Amino acid sequence: MFKIIIIGGMAAGCKAAARLSRLSSDYQITIIERNPFISYGNCGLPLYAAGEIDDFYELAKTGYGVIRDEKYFLDVKGIKVLTNCEVEVINTSQCEIQYTDRKNNETNILQYNSLIIATGSKAVKPGFPYKSSPCISSFHSPLEAKNFKEAAQKGKVGKAVIVGGGFIGCELSEALVSLWGIETTIIEKEDSLLLKSFDPEIAAIVENTIRLKDVNVMLSTEVEKIEFDENELPVVILKDGAQIQSDYVFYNLGIKPESTLAEKAGIKIGTLGGIVVDENMKTSIPNIWAAGDCVEVNNLVTGKPDYFSLGSLSNRMGRVAADSIAEENSSFKGAVGTISLKIFNTTITASGLTEKNAKDCGYNVGSVIGAWSDRPDYHPDVKKLFGKLVYEKPGFKLLGLQLIGEGEVTRYIDVFSELLANNQTAFDLINLEHGYTPPHSSPISPLNYLGSMVINQEKNKVKNINPNQVPFFDGIFIDLREPLEIEAAGFSNKVIPIPLSEIRAHRDKFEHSQPIMFLCERGPRSYEAARIFMNYGYNNISYLGGGNSYYKAAGKKFDIKV
Ligand SMILES: Cc1cc2nc3c(=O)[nH]c(=O)nc-3n(C[C@H](O)[C@H](O)[C@H](O)COP(=O)(O)OP(=O)(O)OC[C@H]3O[C@@H](n4cnc5c(N)ncnc54)[C@H](O)[C@@H]3O)c2cc1C
Repeated sequence: MFKIIIIGGMAAGCKAAARLSRLSSDYQITIIERNPFISYGNCGLPLYAAGEIDDFYELAKTGYGVIRDEKYFLDVKGIKVLTNCEVEVINTSQCEIQYTDRKNNETNILQYNSLIIATGSKAVKPGFPYKSSPCISSFHSPLEAKNFKEAAQKGKVGKAVIVGGGFIGCELSEALVSLWGIETTIIEKEDSLLLKSFDPEIAAIVENTIRLKDVNVMLSTEVEKIEFDENELPVVILKDGAQIQSDYVFYNLGIKPESTLAEKAGIKIGTLGGIVVDENMKTSIPNIWAAGDCVEVNNLVTGKPDYFSLGSLSNRMGRVAADSIAEENSSFKGAVGTISLKIFNTTITASGLTEKNAKDCGYNVGSVIGAWSDRPDYHPDVKKLFGKLVYEKPGFKLLGLQLIGEGEVTRYIDVFSELLANNQTAFDLINLEHGYTPPHSSPISPLNYLGSMVINQEKNKVKNINPNQVPFFDGIFIDLREPLEIEAAGFSNKVIPIPLSEIRAHRDKFEHSQPIMFLCERGPRSYEAARIFMNYGYNNISYLGGGNSYYKAAGKKFDIKV
């Protein structure tokens, strides 16, 4: 028999094992997993903590309700699974691994013909001092999720602190507040949440969503240390000396590849700490493949190595590793990094580079911001959608998109990521075909609009102004909304109100070279007015991206120089 050992029994490892078992019955496949559980949906842990999923084992069930445990893998797929077993050594010259069975503390050796490393990732530990305690943990494993849930169920968690405002921190805040009514604080050292995948003006919408649910968000705030009070409960001490009393502290400071075992075996590790693999998931050592969160991947936008911890990619990589062992023709060429999450009722998605990331990579960057309806405005379920597109100025090559809304969002990011992976431009966005039906979409998709906005900005010189640039705009602001709308939510009394229907009558009122910015509720009226004025010879015209609706969504005040 051809012996295949897989280290790690989650997305990448189990996918590879299942694929191999389907490809041939000549393989003797063994998965070795150090945890007691295998093949559960890590991504569902926040839902489990929030009580939306009651029983942990629901996360490990097949579509027809059977738990994917050792017995299932053996009976259905002919795969042997060793749980509670940790691989400690890979001996590459002898093609064998050494593992310890934690159930009886026995050390065993197994030989392989092919080995797949699918060891995943680990949570970054805090750099500040704290002592180990059951009420201080990351939120990265089922045991951590279970510990918290048990404490919450016993009514032991009235106040919680989440250190780190990334995805897991933000997702977790919903779990703590919604079901358990826990008084929750997020502490983030940067001046914006979700900075890895969102620019601050878009992250501000997420921040507002979270704040409106009574989560206390502390930005630009650093933890000095965690101490314990006389009841052995954690007290988070901030750099400015302030103290936050709590019953539970989560640290979510990012994750990194679990590549120590591979490194010790002499397998090549990249600059980001992940295992280096080729398009077939082969490592630098013969007969050894690696897949999932433990590897670095080629970023298809930058062409450079990158690190993404995503269940969607891990599954695909696992399949490619299996295909490569079986000499089937498939490859994993890289990824653009497409994420999607839901926090409270808002879906938050991003694909590719933020404006900041793109600038750091040396691109000559342009961007546009907009607000749209996710379906026709007459539809009773219509929801707003906000987005920022980042592109490269010469050629209008797409670099990234951030899209947020309460309605249909993921369908757009999924299509966009495909365009991004294929080096497409803003022109391709304009020409994109999509399915239109009023219950789900508008006749013109936000992606079509974004493409037009780029071309209008670059070729037709109608500047789209980012709300964060408004305080630096030195010119005239014209509010095009109807008087009733302005009464409901006016920008500022420093803004000249001229409804769109009257704008032509005002065409001679201003100097043609004067900077003028049009404002409206979302943007289309502003663009219309901009084109009218430009046709009358004005040459310094811009409009506010996202309009007043952006300020409402971000909970911000319109801020202009006076
Ligand atoms: C709370 C949370 C929410 C998430 N949400 C999403 C989401 O919404 N969308 C998304 O795309 N991704 C999400 N992810 C990321 C996703 O879960 C991971 O990308 C995916 O699980 C990676 O799969 P993997 O098999 O590569 O690694 P892992 O899931 O990390 O599995 C690796 C396994 O290897 C085992 N192992 C490691 N070393 C050894 C050893 N020496 N011996 C034996 N076993 C070992 C580990 O115990 C672990 O079980 C989320 C992650 C978390 C924690």
